[in-house]
Amino acid sequence: LTTGALIAQMLVDPVGLILRWYDELQVAQVSLARLVGVRDIEPGAGDAALVPDGRRVRAERVRFGYREGVDVLRTVSLEVAPGTRMALVGPSGAGKSTLGRLLAGIYAPRDGRVTLGDAELSRMAAERVREHVALVNQEHHVFVGSLRDNLRLARADAGDAELWAALGAVDADGWARALDDGLDTEVGSGGLPLTPAQAQQVALARLVLADPHTLVLDEATSLLDPRAARHLERSLARVLDGRTVVAIAHRLHTAHDADVIAVVENGRISELGSHDELVAANGAYAALWRSWHG
Ligand code: ATP
Repeated sequence: LTTGALIAQMLVDPVGLILRWYDELQVAQVSLARLVGVRDIEPGAGDAALVPDGRRVRAERVRFGYREGVDVLRTVSLEVAPGTRMALVGPSGAGKSTLGRLLAGIYAPRDGRVTLGDAELSRMAAERVREHVALVNQEHHVFVGSLRDNLRLARADAGDAELWAALGAVDADGWARALDDGLDTEVGSGGLPLTPAQAQQVALARLVLADPHTLVLDEATSLLDPRAARHLERSLARVLDGRTVVAIAHRLHTAHDADVIAVVENGRISELGSHDELVAANGAYAALWRSWHG
């Protein structure tokens, strides 16, 4: 954007401009990838009219690497049925988070395709993709601005009643109602310092407002104390309820009740099945489970 265009846009469409920034923050990881020459999905690119029919998420013979010639995923195929929960497990560095980013449309595969219903994610506009699929992790949760601004990033037209309902849905209305300035409270750097748990609740409330039907959840090792973590897990469980979930499980206990567990090893899916099936198959998952239990 040139300065003139920026000012013009600020005058006619300030909310759109903020949303555009938000898009750029969301794809910060992608920009980093651009520096190292990866083909990625740029905000604003793609076919804005392409709306998927159907909610099934599918990876078809997907190959991907951050650098040309170094494959992180090779010939990965899988399918996540609407309303079900899939857990990705496997050793560190196997490619779980990378696969999650491809399923969320953050990166485009080098070969093969990732589809949502009948639409290929990499051909859809990034902002369209995010209406359907969201990537949830523990990064960049609070931006400079009021609590209201932070929530409205998810839906610019949401009224205060909806914002409070979203905060209530993630058990954040208690502390938020105790704030002197309520939704006008400035948060982010320079504003009210939110605890890590509160910041994550704000991010979850944004999810409730955005209401995507599919979530890719990167369960990064939590920095929270056990009590806050349990509280947040309950809020998260409510947000996940009824949605399609792909959970990148860094801890096995969050994986075992998934409908399907995919074991990722060395950029490939080596096993696929329910906990009971995989334990009975006595392969890599069973070994992981035994060592975790032992
Ligand atoms: P963990 O459980 O430790 O998070 P993971 O199975 O999720 O591991 P990935 O994070 O997908 O594995 O990493 C797979 C490979 O890709 C690793 O070799 C990692 O170093 C590399 N990698 C991951 N992210 C990037 C990136 N943004 N740029 C370049 N290489 C990356």
